[in-house]
Amino acid sequence: MIENRNSQDIKEMIPFDEAYEIVMRSAFETGTETVSYTASPGRIIAGEVISDIDMPPFDKAAVDGFACRQSDLGLELEIIETIPAGKWPEKSVGERQCSKIMTGAALPAGADCIIMVEDAELLPAGRIKFNGTFSKENYASKGEDVKKGDILIKPGKLIRPQDIAVMAAAGHVKVTVARMPLVAVISSGSELVEPEEFPGISQIRNSNASQLMAQTGRAGAKGIYYGIAGDNEEITYDIVVKALSESDIVLITGGVSMGDFDFIPAVLRRAEVKILFDRVAVQPGKPTTFGVHSKGVVFGLPGNPVSSFIQFEMLVRPLIYRMMGYKWDPIKIELPMKENFVRKYTGRMALLPVMITDDGFVKPVEYHGSAHISSLSEASGIISIPSGESTIKKGEIVSVRQI
Ligand code: AMP
Ligand code: MG
Repeated sequence: MIENRNSQDIKEMIPFDEAYEIVMRSAFETGTETVSYTASPGRIIAGEVISDIDMPPFDKAAVDGFACRQSDLGLELEIIETIPAGKWPEKSVGERQCSKIMTGAALPAGADCIIMVEDAELLPAGRIKFNGTFSKENYASKGEDVKKGDILIKPGKLIRPQDIAVMAAAGHVKVTVARMPLVAVISSGSELVEPEEFPGISQIRNSNASQLMAQTGRAGAKGIYYGIAGDNEEITYDIVVKALSESDIVLITGGVSMGDFDFIPAVLRRAEVKILFDRVAVQPGKPTTFGVHSKGVVFGLPGNPVSSFIQFEMLVRPLIYRMMGYKWDPIKIELPMKENFVRKYTGRMALLPVMITDDGFVKPVEYHGSAHISSLSEASGIISIPSGESTIKKGEIVSVRQI
């Protein structure tokens, strides 16, 4: 029989900010790997992207038109060549001459501007005349966007489709990215059945595991699901030991409160996890537990689905990003409150799921507590209320963290 958590409890409720610092200090780098640039969107770049060419690589036509000399703009010009994109010009443009040129083609020697087709009057015998007003040269100079050797993307950035274009243009087809942390997801609780099943009497569906797997995927890490451990200490211990050896971060939900079957902290200690905190002054998520061991870190998240969702967003997601070297700050939007919000108990920092109304106000979703998942599904953000504060006034500007 494993000792009950009460005997070795840390017991002290620490402020959320302290919990956050402890978690972030426990981050370790997961290393790097090389992938094809086309497979890299959503990953965190770990090396630099350096251009092996000037961009554009030559003086390049920005319009379809006629390349000529600015000093000849008032004159009739003889067309001496047609230059399609992809073909190097053969002739140099002399006085009273021009070459017909297509967008993307190289500017011929001798020319210093391009007349747009729309501004050219076609004359007999292969001649044209400019009948517009000169405003710009209509070509891009060699190297005006990027010089060979320029650093185009720095490490620590999330790779997005627009970065892929940069890699493609720079010939950077193999990219070094952070290895995705492996995140083990374990559910505890004998009342749980998997979502495919219809719950029997006194049972509920396991919604935490798939929620955490989805959050893990969204954070750019790789989730591995270890199933439902029930409320059996030995089974839980075996699964925990296996998960610890196979992953960087272990997430266990449930079993961290004060009930008779809440033995997760004891199981973790037996598995040689050093518990760094087991109570946080935050609502929801008070029993959130965190520990470290030789191979990685472990979170004991509250069983309640809203609590585990929010604690993942607040603690696990930033940790995953830190481990991958992603320089990340949560996107926050500042907006006014739609109505007064008042809470009774102010002993903990509150994290409140909110929606943003069509007219641009912040409104807490109708929320009956930590198990109200349909309410969380309507929320698009979280606001926080510091401990000691009870009220947010109508019209007060709050900072909404996107979820
Ligand atoms: P616990 O933290 O184990 O005391 O669980 C707190 C509450 O969350 C209980 O009502 C559980 O039934 C519920 N719960 C625990 N695990 C899950 C889960 N994986 N999915 C949905 N609800 C859960
Ligand atoms: Mg339980």
